[in-house]
Amino acid sequence: METKEGEVVCDFCGKHQKFIESLVASKQGNKSVGICNECIERSYEIIVEARSEKQAQQAKAE
Ligand SMILES: [Zn+2]
Repeated sequence: METKEGEVVCDFCGKHQKFIESLVASKQGNKSVGICNECIERSYEIIVEARSEKQAQQAKAE
């Protein structure tokens, strides 16, 4: 998401780019969306956790 001044905020948590270490942006048509490093880190933790849970379940099933 871009503000009026062309500044970027995280579309996930709404944090302004001034307070963000790094932001990954992606263009969708004529609008751009962004996600900050904190949201990516949190998402990564959730993915890793979900994956290890799944693997633990599969190990039990075998
Ligand atoms: Zn964020």
